Amino acid sequence: MKANLTRRELLRLLAGAGLGTAFASRVVADEITAAPKSAPVPESKLVPLAERPRYPATLVGGRVIQPERPLKVVQETDVLVVGGGPAGFAAAVASARIGVKTTLVERYGYFGGQWTGGLVLVVISSHAKENGQLVKVLRGVGDELLERLTKIDSAVVNQAPGKFNPTTDPEATKFMMDEMIREAGVKVFLHCWVADVVMDGSVLRGVVFESKAGRQAILAKVVVDATGDGDVFAAAGAEHEQRLHAIGLVHRVGNADRTDAAKLKAAGVKALGSLEPLPSVKWVNLRGPSTDCLDVAELTRLEMEHRRSIWQRVQQLRKTPGGEGLFLLQTAPQLGVRISRLLAGTHQLTYAEAREGRKFADAVAVGGAQNAQHRGWPIPFGAMVPKKLEGLLAAGRCICVDEKLIEDMRLIASCLTTGHAAGTAAALSVQTGCRPREVEMAKLQKLLLGQGAYLG
Ligand SMILES: Cc1cc2nc3c(=O)[nH]c(=O)nc-3n(C[C@H](O)[C@H](O)[C@H](O)COP(=O)(O)OP(=O)(O)OC[C@H]3O[C@@H](n4cnc5c(N)ncnc54)[C@H](O)[C@@H]3O)c2cc1C
Repeated sequence: MKANLTRRELLRLLAGAGLGTAFASRVVADEITAAPKSAPVPESKLVPLAERPRYPATLVGGRVIQPERPLKVVQETDVLVVGGGPAGFAAAVASARIGVKTTLVERYGYFGGQWTGGLVLVVISSHAKENGQLVKVLRGVGDELLERLTKIDSAVVNQAPGKFNPTTDPEATKFMMDEMIREAGVKVFLHCWVADVVMDGSVLRGVVFESKAGRQAILAKVVVDATGDGDVFAAAGAEHEQRLHAIGLVHRVGNADRTDAAKLKAAGVKALGSLEPLPSVKWVNLRGPSTDCLDVAELTRLEMEHRRSIWQRVQQLRKTPGGEGLFLLQTAPQLGVRISRLLAGTHQLTYAEAREGRKFADAVAVGGAQNAQHRGWPIPFGAMVPKKLEGLLAAGRCICVDEKLIEDMRLIASCLTTGHAAGTAAALSVQTGCRPREVEMAKLQKLLLGQGAYLG
């Protein structure tokens, strides 16, 4: 592609991508204002300092003590979803579509969690095998997102009849998640890290979060913990367990289609990475050591060590006959944490139950099979409901499963479907004025089916 596009060419490109001329003109206008030819240094304006109450911690007897401080409540909502990964995205869209006020808080600047920010691009377990037939178990909000990606050039592969485990382009996925969140009318807080909870006795009433504006609060009738790591239910004191699991870092290589596969193979390189919609790019998974993702020193060490070994690997490939054109396109913006905290739910779903395909009266989703080689496994609502804590549901990779089922439960398809279920249940509990654990199952299942979900 040409490096310097004319305004007309850029408009045509953006319009071709379905972004419309209004959006295109704004982007172009912003670019021109930000860097006009006559003033290459971006404009900087002095603004009056906002009044900001300060509550610095103090050193008392060698200990750092925080003073009591009132927090500004920036939002009151019906359903609050914390975490905008596959689970949180689906939860927020499903809840908002039911018609309750829905808010989503995400610590990074985009949605998708490990899927987009972790560059884990293949949606495994989208299907299962029932009576010898391939059955799509990933339906509802998650499948709608994938279907919409099929309308965009080079955004998804293997999302078609007879295919399974689709792989998506991370930027197209982020773009489509933005679209669906916006269309559903979800109020979004990006760049906001939930650090604590607001409790009223044993009932969760909201969260405290940090941002560039300091510490603020959001109050909610129901909170969906879709942080992956159970940050909310842990802060609220809900019973849970913590596991150490392989922490990796995914990367992508570019120019993969300009290498010489035969020469690389002769040099002992079997594969450069996994398929992506763009033929020139491959993504490369990394397992990494099983360590503690709640220990920031470990995260720091791993991030830097993984990046160094990835850099060295790609440099080595570039020196290998056949791999000369290859380059390191990107390391994932976020470290690949697979599992940490798991909720103690009112039902712990086990591997044995899943393989047996046990039916549950409170089934709200169905898990798939890694290579679509075995049957789907119903997921009960009880796996998302804390034993005691009120006002919270969990979704995604932190719900209540036994050790052997973790590898299946944490896959993107199951996180999308449990997110869809948790968001719908949270919205229904608000609408009917009951506690989340008390939602009428027949009503919940009817709503889910009406939203295209698959319950077996
Ligand atoms: C290296 C690696 C390889 C994998 N390979 C595959 C694969 O090939 N196929 C597959 O299907 N699955 C794969 N997985 C699993 C899958 O990607 C994840 O389990 C899945 O994305 C989990 O979805 P989730 O929404 O539950 O959590 P996440 O994707 O982790 O999303 C959680 C979201 O919450 C946000 N968040 C967390 N804490 C806070 C907080 N305190 N405040 C505000 N926001 C917060 C995060 O920023 C993130 O956006 C892989 C995972 C890893 C790490």
